[in-house]
Amino acid sequence: MQNILITGGAGYIGSHICIKLQENGFQPVVFDNLSNGHRDAISPNIPFVQADISDDAALNRVFEEFKPAAVIHMAALIEAGASMVEPARFYKVNTAGSLNLFEAMRRNDCRHIVFSSTAAVYGNTDVDLLDETMQVQAENPYGRSKAMVETMLADYASIYGFHAVALRYFNAAGADPMGRTGERHDPETHLIPLVLQTAAGQRDHIKIFGADYDTPDGTCIRDYIHVDDLADAHVKALGYVTSSDEPAFEIANIGTGQGCSVKEIIELCKEVTALDFNVVQDARRPGDPARLVANPAKANELFGWQPKYPSPRKIIEHAWNFYQANIQRS
Ligand code: UDP
Repeated sequence: MQNILITGGAGYIGSHICIKLQENGFQPVVFDNLSNGHRDAISPNIPFVQADISDDAALNRVFEEFKPAAVIHMAALIEAGASMVEPARFYKVNTAGSLNLFEAMRRNDCRHIVFSSTAAVYGNTDVDLLDETMQVQAENPYGRSKAMVETMLADYASIYGFHAVALRYFNAAGADPMGRTGERHDPETHLIPLVLQTAAGQRDHIKIFGADYDTPDGTCIRDYIHVDDLADAHVKALGYVTSSDEPAFEIANIGTGQGCSVKEIIELCKEVTALDFNVVQDARRPGDPARLVANPAKANELFGWQPKYPSPRKIIEHAWNFYQANIQRS
């Protein structure tokens, strides 16, 4: 069985990827500093190293002990809003941290990698569906910190022989359809879990960050992708990068191709939960593009991926099921 090193594997998306890797006959090895992840989000039978990607000695040890066939690199800071206040942290963890990991890979002759990038690299554009050939122009340091890593990977592929794929995630949401893991950020900043917490009475109201965007209902449009589909994309991308030792670097969007506004998400949450709650209109959140919707064709062409749960209603249903079953967990 091949070992796959997964940095940030105890996080929300990482814990779903671990399940999918095991289901597909891989052995995940999780490397996570638990700054946001949870030890109990992953099965006790998965090797777990609590360390930081800035720690060379810990990285060397994990490569020597487990000899991973490939790396899935997820460890990162993820809040676009926070990056507008503290950009240095994002460049340090996301950009410098990735460089450190890539150097450890090079020292240990591991050259296959799936990198978690983001739709935030696109920034504000006026096209309906974003595709990977477009010029990147991130609106915030979070997006720029990830775009820089894509640039590094392109060089690591052409000069050091890496075989790499960067997956540009759109808005990951939902939970494992069987309820084994789900979203547990603390503090929570993402729209769907915040709306569900409001529906459950844990918050007094949900704020809409900006209702004056140039969109049909004035609120931001995002492409919400089921976390189970996102996890599946990683396993398929892993198959692609490990299928050849030829140097290559590819970028693929992971989204559904369908946009949903903040107001539409709130209405769907009201329907799914059958609960009413307070909605308050607030100012725009700095750094938010008006619309981010994927053209997901390339992921299908490159490694045969397509979403199984493209409907935001399903995503919200699974998130709500997990939330209700785990309401006491933090
Ligand atoms: N949003 C909102 N209220 C909130 C949280 C988020 O209106 O309490 C909006 C946010 O401005 C963005 C969309 O919901 O337009 C999705 O935000 P989220 O933070 O979930 O993901 P992002 O798109 O920033 O990755």
